Amino acid sequence: MTEPLMSTYNRLPIDLIKGQGAKVWDAKGNEYLDALAGISVCSLGHAHPAVAKTLSEQASKIIHCSNIYGIPAQRELAAKLCEISGMHKVFFGNSGAEANEAAIKIARLYAHRNDIKNPVIIVTEGAFHGRTLATLTATGNRKVQAGFEPLVQGFVRARYGDIEAIKTIAQSTANVVGVLLEPIQGEGGIRIPNDQYLNDIRELCDANNWLMMLDEIQTGMCRTGEWFAFQHTDIKPDIMTIAKSLGNGMPIGACLAQGKAADVFQPGNHGSTYGGNPLACQTALTVIKIMEDSGLKDRAAQLGIDMLKHFHNSLKDTTGIHEIRGKGLMIGIELTHDCPQLVSMALDQGLLINVTAGNTIRLLPPLIITDSEAEQIVQKVCAVIQQFVSK
Ligand SMILES: *Cc1c(COP(=O)(O)O)cnc(C)c1O
Repeated sequence: MTEPLMSTYNRLPIDLIKGQGAKVWDAKGNEYLDALAGISVCSLGHAHPAVAKTLSEQASKIIHCSNIYGIPAQRELAAKLCEISGMHKVFFGNSGAEANEAAIKIARLYAHRNDIKNPVIIVTEGAFHGRTLATLTATGNRKVQAGFEPLVQGFVRARYGDIEAIKTIAQSTANVVGVLLEPIQGEGGIRIPNDQYLNDIRELCDANNWLMMLDEIQTGMCRTGEWFAFQHTDIKPDIMTIAKSLGNGMPIGACLAQGKAADVFQPGNHGSTYGGNPLACQTALTVIKIMEDSGLKDRAAQLGIDMLKHFHNSLKDTTGIHEIRGKGLMIGIELTHDCPQLVSMALDQGLLINVTAGNTIRLLPPLIITDSEAEQIVQKVCAVIQQFVSK
């Protein structure tokens, strides 16, 4: 039989059919420890009973009704997200890319209302913002863009982590309306900018009347030890996008805004058929409640510190390690050489990991992992690295 799926992914040779907490099983009954959580999606682990209960109860009441009508769970979720983020208004979509599309549209509309006819958004090298035409244009990776030209106009690129690069653009480019970036680059290799970077960007945005737009799709929802990574600083963005862990696997994304960005959208400017439907919103409310009740952000922060320490200790005499870095349970181990083979080698050891940017092991385990599971992840990853570099 020919393969009926479009060939968009190079898939690993296992079918995952069941999960429980931080463990998953393939169709042959093999067990794996999940150190990736579907790329920072299943932060509460798999088959969480309270999430499953919400899904089934809500499905028996109402799944969808259209945004033509009021949706209480959507209002409640928006209020909750504003409470934990300090933002003021929310638009719901179904994915990260859609959340970023909303952010880009708000920035353009804001520009046009301020008589900027050809607005430009500053984006960064190594960024990942999604696969739609506008978001792949904003993405700083040629592989994501190649073959899809003509790209969308109105983006200029600055080196990530380098405030001077943005200042140079500010001087040479008219019509800048905002900056869009990840507080820590995920896909780009767990790149953590210096502590001052976000503050400097905030200052620059304020001085120039630009919008500061943070893509927290991977970093948000307790992943880095705060609800949102910007909360490690004392600044606030004008726009923030989230998705991934918000629904723990139930597709949902959101674009949050405050201040001058909060009321840019008016009826008719934007929309989504599924966006913010009762099922997705009720599920996200449950996700937030569990995260809150179990103090998951503090737990993620502590586990991150512990795991980084163990990695540093265990790998201090291993050659081929360029850098070990992370914040909360967003951890990257950059090797000196490309290491895509590590993914299959880990799989053989019963561990799900990811390698991004060619040479960086990316760990995004469920935030509910036990101390023992965290320890097993460190041991297995170190064993696989040692096996790899000794070859
Ligand atoms: C995953 C991701 C996206 C895209 O989200 P989708 O739901 O796949 O559209 C955008 N930005 C960042 C930082 C991401 O990690």
